[in-house]
Amino acid sequence: MAEKIGVYFDLANIGGGLDVQNLADEATKKWGDLIAVTKLVPELANAVSEIADDIAKEKLDGVLLCGASPRIDTELYRFPVQVDYVNLREQCVLSYKNPDGSPYIVADTAPKELQELALDYVQMGVAKLQKSNVPDSAAITTTPRILVIGGGWTGLTAAKEAASMGYEVILVEKKGELGGAVVNMPVVSPLGPMWDKKEESNLKFKIQAVTQDPKVTVYLNAVMEKLEGQPGEYVAHIATSEGTKTEAVGTVILATGWVPLDAKYLEPMGLGRSPKVVTAAEFGKMLVSGATIPARVAFVLDTTMAENAWKEKAEALAKEAEEAKPEEAGEATEAPFVKADLESMKHLQYSNAVNSVGMLRLANTVCEKTNDRSQAYILYKNMTVPGILERFYKKMQDRLGVMMTKADVTDIREVGDHMVVSCQNTLLGCDFDLDVDLVVLPTGLVPTTAKEVTVQFGYRQGPEFPDLELFDGFADSNYICFPYETRRTGVYAAGCVRQPLTLDACEVDAKGAVLKAVQCLEAAGHGVAVHPRALDNSYPVFNFVRCTQCKRCTEECPFGALDDDEKGTPKPNPARCRRCGTCFGACPERVISFANYNIDQIGSMIRQVRVPADFKKEGPRILILACENDAYPALDMAGMRRRTWSPFCRVIPVRCLGSVNAIWISDAMSKGFDGVMLLGCKYGDDYQCHFVKGSEICNRRMQNIAETLDRLGVQPERVEQLEVAIDEYDKVPDLIDGFVTRIVALGPNPFKGM
Ligand code: SF4
Ligand code: SF4
Repeated sequence: MAEKIGVYFDLANIGGGLDVQNLADEATKKWGDLIAVTKLVPELANAVSEIADDIAKEKLDGVLLCGASPRIDTELYRFPVQVDYVNLREQCVLSYKNPDGSPYIVADTAPKELQELALDYVQMGVAKLQKSNVPDSAAITTTPRILVIGGGWTGLTAAKEAASMGYEVILVEKKGELGGAVVNMPVVSPLGPMWDKKEESNLKFKIQAVTQDPKVTVYLNAVMEKLEGQPGEYVAHIATSEGTKTEAVGTVILATGWVPLDAKYLEPMGLGRSPKVVTAAEFGKMLVSGATIPARVAFVLDTTMAENAWKEKAEALAKEAEEAKPEEAGEATEAPFVKADLESMKHLQYSNAVNSVGMLRLANTVCEKTNDRSQAYILYKNMTVPGILERFYKKMQDRLGVMMTKADVTDIREVGDHMVVSCQNTLLGCDFDLDVDLVVLPTGLVPTTAKEVTVQFGYRQGPEFPDLELFDGFADSNYICFPYETRRTGVYAAGCVRQPLTLDACEVDAKGAVLKAVQCLEAAGHGVAVHPRALDNSYPVFNFVRCTQCKRCTEECPFGALDDDEKGTPKPNPARCRRCGTCFGACPERVISFANYNIDQIGSMIRQVRVPADFKKEGPRILILACENDAYPALDMAGMRRRTWSPFCRVIPVRCLGSVNAIWISDAMSKGFDGVMLLGCKYGDDYQCHFVKGSEICNRRMQNIAETLDRLGVQPERVEQLEVAIDEYDKVPDLIDGFVTRIVALGPNPFKGM
């Protein structure tokens, strides 16, 4: 709890005619001895040493910086005491418009509403700091050892990289040999400059580098039995042919790769029906085994034909079922097929880039191995060649013996001793039938997580990664912001278990995942969070006296950070925690808090706002709880672009909408706020929540909140959850003003003035 605070006003960043001296005087008047120093400094960035001197001389234990957004120049203000900010620039002066909606033409003296807005924010800032403590250290002694699961191309690269950084490595491979799918690929697509030639895979050297490294221990014919503990101090139980081995490890890299998509999905294209139709992976194996290469080989990248056939089959099945039982028509008959099979077929599309590059390589091999006596045809709908591999594609375009054309493949049939491939909409300007001896179809790379549990977590929430269907079975849980991240802190996915990748990309991926694993290991050692709240040293603290063992926190934590005992009392694992606050948003007993972010703190901030009794004359008051990840920056960016919104709103940043506790809404309603807006990330299939589930969980809780408000006689419409992405800064002012308009139409909160 900060008890001696210094409040600094950054005159260079506070404009708009605000009476800054008045803000300082009012804050000092209200907080008495709590504020030991109040200064108006010409430019905050130049006052860093002055503030440091004040901290030492006056023994300040908190500093409140009033000026620009807390997202600006944060690294300048690293003091040995608690630091907080009041955003008087982006979300006050710059975004202010007059109550009648007209633009504010900056004057020497700010209008009353703007001055009041700024004063509310200053008082909220002091209250926030007053209720904030320095967190105790959660640092642990870590084991500098990385567990790599999967001994294929990606796993080998990861093991080698981690060892070269000085970390011990435990490598677990379920087969009896290392190498994975590349065992069947002596020649691979380009792995480096000039990026236009196939290469020897040199797998044996990669394997040697790992097996001969004294820092690496390899377990073959081994699978994970259980992973217990938390980052920095995991215990891995590994089932081997010699029994279970137990190893202490710090972090984990999941590089278990892929399995081929069930052949039934390509049956409409002849797979499984004719020996003259194989997948690219099978053709690779044939080449390795020395099988005779036929004279004419068609590589067909377009699988629309199979997808259409399955869709037709689904429709026929649905119709049949509907006719049999008309009362059960609709979703029930359609759902099983659509959800399972069509979803699975997506893996063919996801794997298109890998297959495009793979087929270029295989087509080249066909010509090379037969001294150009064989002819390779590549028929594609979308040739997807990632990045610089375009050079390989260009080279193959000129390759004698390789013929490529865009084409819709509409039929593949066996005629006599050969196959006929019907092509339409080709680049040759005509439709044609192609006679070939072998048809090679793409391989759907299905992540191993979709088929089996690869880590076996000894977590309260279960042994598998949760909600894999959200990510189409892939282990990566946030491709945009945090690549390699899974829903389990300390476990990083790399290679094709994360997304279908070419071999060169798998190598990059392995290195990236090693860096994340090392970062997490070091973070655990320092007791700080990994992304997105990187370096945050706070963590949830439980006041177990009041805990009713309702298990809401353990069930809702998006990262499985909480275990529990047999009675249901939560058992925190701080190093697994991402500090999102979803647990304390869930807790009905207010048992959970962070030293510097807690229920009482936000409640106190809410209570600092002056809510006028006269709604008509002085307007409504709206509380906006804005997610700090997307919504708050979007508001800042809107302000910086001089986009404005109603001056009746007061914004409080929250770690995630998942951390919003219903008590804050009750606090706001009892205080007389007329509406509460929860502004956070998109949820659902295209979710953008940095904590994966936070905004979705908040949405679920809205139902309870609405019922509570209804019981209290307050219209549930007074509380709304709205979605915004970080780049939707142009949209956010309209979202806010729309909500304010709806609240004005509802009239004043019936609790106002009570
Ligand atoms: S819900 Fe969030 S803050 Fe709470 S334990 Fe889980 S990760 Fe940590
Ligand atoms: S949500 Fe609160 S009351 Fe329920 S188990 Fe967790 S800490 Fe205890």
